[in-house]
Parts: sequence; structure tokens; C-alpha cells
Amino acid sequence: MSRNQARELVSMFYAISEAIEAERGSLTRLDGVIGDADHGITMSTGFLAVNSALSKLDMENCTPSDVFFTAANAFLNAVGASTGPLYATAFLCAATAVRQHDCVDGRFLCSIFAAIAEGIRERGKGARGDKTMLDAWLPAAEAAHAAYERGASVDQIAREAAEAGAAGAAATRAMIASKGRAARLGERSLGHIDPGAASARIIIETIGVHFKKSIQQ
Ligand SMILES: [Mg+2]
Repeated sequence: MSRNQARELVSMFYAISEAIEAERGSLTRLDGVIGDADHGITMSTGFLAVNSALSKLDMENCTPSDVFFTAANAFLNAVGASTGPLYATAFLCAATAVRQHDCVDGRFLCSIFAAIAEGIRERGKGARGDKTMLDAWLPAAEAAHAAYERGASVDQIAREAAEAGAAGAAATRAMIASKGRAARLGERSLGHIDPGAASARIIIETIGVHFKKSIQQ
């Protein structure tokens, strides 16, 4: 079972990379308004490096934890800016979390969302309302957890996490940045979605869609 889980996660990372590629330009434009116009390129570079590293794994002997561990290292090596260590820590946390699960189900999905959100929070020492990627990740992880506790299906967990992540990203428009490069803009960051939250929304949505598909197959 765990070998199948590992394959699921590798194809999930391919899907994330594709989704990021599709929105690379729009992410860079968002970052151009309140940052240094590199976010689309940064995320693209990071996930392409992840895919390249994952393609070299021996899938016959690979666990879900190995997939996240490999992704963490590849992302960190490829992305020097703050996004690199944040997602690297997130994937390392997920590598630990998935060790406790032996099947691809709602609990597995929830634990991935929770580990990523927690890893980013820990590493960035951030909080909700800072106008960062956490404003998408924290509500998404909470919504996934709440749906799981209610006994919701994987489909429903994925949908509620995606909706909460999207709402969280949209809400950054009304926030003043207190972290990262945008913090220097102060109130001028108002009225613009944080690029990190925008890419988080894409990742959250893609993870959900991927798991829905893999459960239905
Ligand atoms: Mg930037």
C-alpha cells in the first residue's frame, strides 16, 4: 500500500508543477505589484526541481515519506529566497506525518494539509493576518480537519479545504503586509493579493483535486 501511496504523491507533485506553470505569469504579475516580480518563476523553478528529483527515485523501494523528503531537499536547493525554506520545512513535516498512515484516505489528506500549514508557520514564525501564504494554508488545514472530524468524504474534505484556501488568499487583498518584502510597502500593499497566498491556493486546490481523482480510480 505504501508504494502506491508514494506513486500517488509523485503524481500529485507533477500536478502541482503543471498548475503552477499554468499560472506562472499571473503569480509573477502579482509579485510585481507588491514584491520583486519573481514569485511565478521561483515557484516554477522549485517544483520543476522537485519533479526532476522525484523522477530519479526508485519507486519500487520508495515510501511516501521518501517522496516528501526528496521534494523538501530539491525545493530548498532550487529556491534560495524565503519561499524555499518555508516549503522545504513544510514538506519535511509532511514526510514525518505520512509515516503514520497506511492508506490514501481522508485522514491522510488532512494530515498532509496540517503538516504543511504547521511547517510553514513554524519556519516563518508567522500568524494569520500577516498577508502571507499562511493566510491560505491555515484556513485550508482547519477546514480539512473540521470536514474530516464531521465524517466528510475525501471529495468533500478536498473541496472545503480548497474553498477555505481560496477565501483565505482572497482575504489578503484587504490586509497590510507585515512580513517579507511587501512589508516595506506598508499600506500600499492594501488592495493586492499576496503572491505567496495565491500560489498556496493553487497548491491546495491541486492537492485536493489529485486526491479526489486517485480515490475515485
Ligand atoms: Mg518575490
